[in-house]
Amino acid sequence: MAQWVQGRITGKTVWTERLVSLQVDAEIAPFEAGQFLKLGLEIGAETVGRPYSLVNAPDERPLEFCFSIVPDGPLSGRLAALNAGDSVLVASHASGFLVLGEIPAGRHLWLIASGTGIGPFLSILKTAAPWQRFERIVLVQSARLASELMYRDTVERVAEAHPERFAFVPLVSREATDFALTGRIPQAIADGQLEARAGLGFDARDSQVMLCGSPQMLAETQQLLTERGLTKNRRREPGNISVESYW
Ligand SMILES: Cc1cc2nc3c(=O)[nH]c(=O)nc-3n(C[C@H](O)[C@H](O)[C@H](O)COP(=O)(O)OP(=O)(O)OC[C@H]3O[C@@H](n4cnc5c(N)ncnc54)[C@H](O)[C@@H]3O)c2cc1C
Repeated sequence: MAQWVQGRITGKTVWTERLVSLQVDAEIAPFEAGQFLKLGLEIGAETVGRPYSLVNAPDERPLEFCFSIVPDGPLSGRLAALNAGDSVLVASHASGFLVLGEIPAGRHLWLIASGTGIGPFLSILKTAAPWQRFERIVLVQSARLASELMYRDTVERVAEAHPERFAFVPLVSREATDFALTGRIPQAIADGQLEARAGLGFDARDSQVMLCGSPQMLAETQQLLTERGLTKNRRREPGNISVESYW
């Protein structure tokens, strides 16, 4: 059972009508970049809690979470309705294995996110560790609409800090833009567009790939990378592909 502490909303970013970020002040135990913790609300007689990735780096405060509103989902819509000053339950301890400590050595780090799966990767990119361990880092962010590519300022700051070593590949599936690839991540891997835009190829010797987001993107992307010779990363059998599914 989660051990809850009382949190307070300190700010809110409404990206679109279905995408929201909350900034939260709460006393939690130290965590690793890439981990998640539960947020909860009392709904009727029940405490309903769901896991959310921390977007802030471990040394940054307030805590930050970004999420989509799932129609008919019990918690996400209620969380999105909170405003500065409101209370929220926060699990005191984070968990999760989408962290650099679980990632074997490599030269190139690919961080591939659909939707709100960008969150844990921003936390990781704001720390020193990936820049100490990898020569090149590619962040891939996909969304249905350009307006849903959240945190573009944060990504720009990362790019400015590491101009030679960082590539950002945005994808938008439901409209054409003048800056993003059009289509979905698996499609852009299959037709070579993603690697062309990144200026880097997937390679079983050099690449470590972290994937986060929807189960469909994860399954299709893993399948394509496996066909390219990359293998799933397991503690007992280190490989190239590490995954976190949001549902
Ligand atoms: C390890 C982990 C970390 C997570 N981190 C995040 C996060 O940082 N941001 C985030 O938005 N969600 C995240 N989720 C999903 C989140 O926990 C909730 O499931 C989601 O917010 C919906 O909550 P709900 O109670 O409204 O509906 P739920 O009862 O939880 O979900 C109802 C249905 O909605 C679908 N669904 C769940 N999550 C999503 C989603 N994000 N987008 C579209 N459909 C979804 C699924 O089909 C699910 O069965 C994470 C899940 C896991 C397991």
